[in-house]
Order: sequence, then structure tokens, then C-alpha cells
Amino acid sequence: MTTATASPVAVAAPACAGAFSIDLEDFSQLTCRDATGITPDCSPDIDRQVDAILSILSEHGVRGTFFSLGMLGSRRPDIIRRIQRCGHEMASHGTAHVAASRQSRAEFKADVEDSLKLLADITGERVLGYRAPAFSIGRANLWALDVLAELGLMYDSSVFPMRMRRYGIDGFDPSPRHYSLPEGGRLVEIPLLPWRRGSRNVPVAGGGYLRLMPRRTLRSAVESFGRAGQCYTLYLHPYEFDPRPLDVARSFPSDRPMPALKRGLLNAKWNLRRSTIVDKVRRLCRNVRFGTYADLAQRIQGMPAAKLGVAWPSEARP
Ligand SMILES: [Zn+2]
Repeated sequence: MTTATASPVAVAAPACAGAFSIDLEDFSQLTCRDATGITPDCSPDIDRQVDAILSILSEHGVRGTFFSLGMLGSRRPDIIRRIQRCGHEMASHGTAHVAASRQSRAEFKADVEDSLKLLADITGERVLGYRAPAFSIGRANLWALDVLAELGLMYDSSVFPMRMRRYGIDGFDPSPRHYSLPEGGRLVEIPLLPWRRGSRNVPVAGGGYLRLMPRRTLRSAVESFGRAGQCYTLYLHPYEFDPRPLDVARSFPSDRPMPALKRGLLNAKWNLRRSTIVDKVRRLCRNVRFGTYADLAQRIQGMPAAKLGVAWPSEARP
């Protein structure tokens, strides 16, 4: 009797490195707070959304970073603990989801500091990283990086290194770098990497860009990052994984309803091509060697620090 020996099948490791992140916030809570000024409890949707993310990450053996919002963590510490138990990094997304560009230095510091204390109390671990709501660290408030270093953080991932309508810094080095800051501190900055096509930058790092992008464009971007030895910095939100349709006014108080036409238009906008996200994330998990932002920051921290503030002169503080 002969025994057939199966020849080993060579499986190529994904050529592209990446850092996986979720901005952990409750869509219904934020849409209600921003439209009515009333902050409701977290909606039960967040459990279903987090379940979907954890199951995809576990399926592909990926560890990611969850930039967690204080207004979610203070009401649902169980969600933070659950994600931590799955081996993911818990980092800060601030406390109240107010753009850093609209805060004074003292307000910004208090908002971040409160979130660090809350997360450390819940997880028993020191927080290493921060991401501002809506990438709201720009040229005019680069002092925010000094504040983050002052608070003992190792890295920030708030800079969108191209100018968009509401955020971004044109000309900022898109690579993760270790910076020596104007006030003497040091910090690793991990910007959200755009795809360079000729003389243009194309945003591909996540959120609405990933949602609307055709799959073949995403594949080309990832292949290009792999060839260039760049690290794909992915960011997404829990609501993007929800298998059910989103409703912007789900948590609105009954005496403060959103007008039906506005509700319908906004729901159409938020749900447009959202169902493509899970498939795109699965493909990315197969084709990118994802790790946490802290893993990446630790590697970058060993490199010599460049001066921040030379190429991008800081502007007046509020
Ligand atoms: Zn956010």
C-alpha cells in the first residue's frame, strides 16, 4: 500500500503591514447629543456592533486598537472589559467627543486626562495612545501634541495628513514618526495614511472613504502600500459593522423628534454602501498583517526623533 504524501502548500504572508483601529463610540448616543443637546444612555445596538467586530477579529487572529470614548466607557465599562479580555489594546478617544480644535488647552487637557483615568480604572492598565474626535488636531492646535506628551502618552493618531473640508494638515509627513516637540516632550505620531496617486493623495484609511470605495480600488491601494513598505492605518466605527439599518434618530426623546424628511435623507446617507464594510474588512484581514497601534508606536519609538514644528510652524494658542 502506498501512502500519498501531500506536498506542502506554500501560503505567502501578506506583504502589507497595517494597524487596525476602531473609534469606539455609540452612533445613536452621539447623533442624539449633537442634535438635541440631550445625552441618552448607550443604545443596545452597540452590543451587536461590538460582537460583529470581535468575531471578525477573532476569526482572523487580529489584535486591534479600540480608541474608546469616555461617555461610552463611563456608562458601559463592561464593553471595555470585554474587548480587553479579547486581547485588544484600549486607547483613548477623549471623554465628550468635542473637536480638539474647538477646545482651549485647559479644556483639551481635562477631556483627555479624564478619559485616561476612566480607562485605567476600568482596565487596570496604562493607556498609551489617543485619537481626537474627527481628526481635529491641525496646524492651529498642534500644541495638543505637547499636551498628550505631558500626560505621558506614547503616541497620537489624530493627524489626517491631507487637507479635507473639516480637518487635515496638507503637507504633514504621512509616515509614523517619533517627534521631539516644541515644549521638549516626545511623541510618536501615526497619521492616517493616504494613497499617493501621481501628485494626488486619495483618502483610503477608513470610515466613509472605505465604505464608498470600490473593492478593486482598495485592493490596489493595499498592494501599493505593500510595495512601498508603508503601513496601512485602518480606522472604523462600531456602527459600520451593524447588520441592521442605522437610524440617526433612534435615541431621540419622543418630544424632540427629527423631521421625517431630514431623518430619511440622513439615514440614506449613513447606510449608503455600509453593507460592503464587513466583506472589505474580511478581505483586509486576509491581505494585511494587522497589529495594534501600540505595537507600531513601540517600533517607531526606537527610532531617532525628528523635530516637529520646523516644517509645520505652529500657530497662536487660544
Ligand atoms: Zn469619534
